[in-house]
Amino acid sequence: MTDTFRDTLYTIDHSGRRKWVYPSLVRGRLYWPRFVVAYILMLVYLVMPWIKVAGQQAIFLNIVNRRFVFFGVEFWATDTFYLFLVLGGLAIALFFFTSLFGRLWCGWACPETVFLEFLFRPIERAIEGNSAQRLRLDQQPWNFTKIWKKLLKHGLCAFFAWILASTFLAYFIGAETLIQMMQGSPTDNLVPFSLTIIFMGLMGFQFGWFREQFCTVLCPYARFQSVLMDSNSLVVGYDSVRGEPRGKAKKGQSDQELGDCVDCGLCVRVCPTGIDIRNGMQLECINCTACIDACDSIMQKLGRPLGLIRYDTENGLNGERRRILRPRVFIYGFILIAFLTAFAFKLNNRVLSETQIIRGARDVPYSALANGQITNHLHLKISNKSKQLRHYSVSTSEPGISLLVPNSPYPVEPGLIVTTPLFVNFDKSKLNAGKLKIVIKISDDSGYSELREVTLLGPDE
Ligand code: SF4
Ligand code: SF4
Repeated sequence: MTDTFRDTLYTIDHSGRRKWVYPSLVRGRLYWPRFVVAYILMLVYLVMPWIKVAGQQAIFLNIVNRRFVFFGVEFWATDTFYLFLVLGGLAIALFFFTSLFGRLWCGWACPETVFLEFLFRPIERAIEGNSAQRLRLDQQPWNFTKIWKKLLKHGLCAFFAWILASTFLAYFIGAETLIQMMQGSPTDNLVPFSLTIIFMGLMGFQFGWFREQFCTVLCPYARFQSVLMDSNSLVVGYDSVRGEPRGKAKKGQSDQELGDCVDCGLCVRVCPTGIDIRNGMQLECINCTACIDACDSIMQKLGRPLGLIRYDTENGLNGERRRILRPRVFIYGFILIAFLTAFAFKLNNRVLSETQIIRGARDVPYSALANGQITNHLHLKISNKSKQLRHYSVSTSEPGISLLVPNSPYPVEPGLIVTTPLFVNFDKSKLNAGKLKIVIKISDDSGYSELREVTLLGPDE
């Protein structure tokens, strides 16, 4: 085995120029499950904005109004603890699954792989031909055939990029709003129209040009996966014990002197990141399994056992014992369960009313009345996150304090945040150094109640 790959990027030549990859297509036993998974994921992505759960779009990330809907549950911008649990849970899930299954995500579910390998590259292959034909087309001077093929390919890719970009936008502005906007003029909806064009441009850049460079030089997950994995994580790997010494038997040489790798190079030709898996585990390998299918097809022709390149752990490939269950799997698994439990518990006990007491005008914190009474003008801010009309009231157990909210119990429509004046009257004699601390109880007609400590102000005499 050579080690030069360790300081080399396969897709960049020594002068720093990009080496374009023309991967061949191989359809083997792992290609078809990946094909099915990819099209299910694309379908889910496309239909999700059109599905309604409890009268709302199944996934709706309404950034403008700061409301985020997931399958009938609406989160508000103030629900930061849920965000913490979700992001924390996702990070731990990433640790857990990577330590067990390596880069399964990259090869099977990453949007980069799914859209490039199962949407844009098939269009390219259908128009420009197989890898050798694509290479020839790119190398030949511009002529009528090259122009129409490139125009057709980019036109079709732009059409699908438009569908994907519009769907992406539907997650943020709502599918129905999107349709209404599409029926109007772009000048009436300049921001969404510009965003669609920007998303299309980004997709054109990524899937048309940048491609595997994202995985090999930019993706942060590829960078830190080596810390998350160990020699017992699942990888796509080459069995060098069985495969080496590689090569075709020369005249007078017996097959027994050689390993199973006949050095046909097919595993390299099918690789979308252009690497040679026989050099060992590499950051550029997205675990797409194309080399497994490629090598299996060769082994089948030669009548040798399949799996010279296979899903296995590094230990398994070296002929050592595989240990799936190990301390890090238990630790990540335990933390993941803790996050999931906390999220489920919080969701189940979710409080759908949120209230806040805010001081009124800062320059006039109180009014002193002729009868010796002091009035503090406060504001009661109420968020009704439920789907029903709720009525809110305030009370206090402190003697000699009167609270007044106009129109009490104060009605708040579902999904609204309102602010209403709250007047607090008390006798000046209750003040201590111009301050009085009281506790106000805020409650609604659905069982919500909360105690809030408020400092009242008056003259310091
Ligand atoms: S080495 Fe194999 S699994 Fe890794 S990216 Fe290349 S073809 Fe895919
Ligand atoms: S496809 Fe298999 S036999 Fe051919 S070079 Fe790769 S590892 Fe060797």
